[in-house]
Amino acid sequence: MDAVERAAALREYAEQTASCTKCALAEGRTQVVFGSGSADAELMFVGEAPGFHEDQQGVPFVGQAGKLLDKLLEGIGLTRSDVFVVNVLKCRPPGNRDPMPEEIAACEPHLFRQIELIEPTLVATLGNFATKLLSGKPAGITRVHGHEQEVTLGSRTVSLYPLYHPAAALYTPSMLKVLEEDFARIPGLLERVLVEPAVEEAPAAVEPEAEPVQLGLF
Ligand code: URA
Repeated sequence: MDAVERAAALREYAEQTASCTKCALAEGRTQVVFGSGSADAELMFVGEAPGFHEDQQGVPFVGQAGKLLDKLLEGIGLTRSDVFVVNVLKCRPPGNRDPMPEEIAACEPHLFRQIELIEPTLVATLGNFATKLLSGKPAGITRVHGHEQEVTLGSRTVSLYPLYHPAAALYTPSMLKVLEEDFARIPGLLERVLVEPAVEEAPAAVEPEAEPVQLGLF
């Protein structure tokens, strides 16, 4: 798929998802928070679930944790329009409680479809819920943060990079420092995952670079 087809496919999927009633969270939400950013992103972030502001605005990470995410991205020379940001759950749990297993099970096909359509090479999971779901392992974020691991998601192998959740780092300076250090490795990881597959593939004809297609607010 080229960038335009990918953006169109993702937009169509967002439209379908907007009326999702696969779990009880549909009853209390203002809207489904599908995700935002570039449909052609190499780097995808996966958070936990929308909070109050995300539910109101329909965009992930727009509250305090989102501001920190923006700052961390800026620190490595990226903006939200270079990446794609989603959550494990697309609807806000009441009172921002933790996602329940049945909600994660109901919602995960949306996340896997997003990954299939965007085809990122690096997936950074923010916090325990996204990390455990996508790694398929019970190891918590304190143990695995900052360590990239190969995972097979559907038909593709991607590099998974667990990070502390920005909301957890907001009020804990020591955790923020670790998050900044882990973030600083992202450019190198991106370079590596982008270069490595090219070695195995036959040299491709050089094509003119397409304009990035932005999927802003769904
Ligand atoms: N925390 C999350 O995990 N996701 C959001 O979108 C906002 C806060």
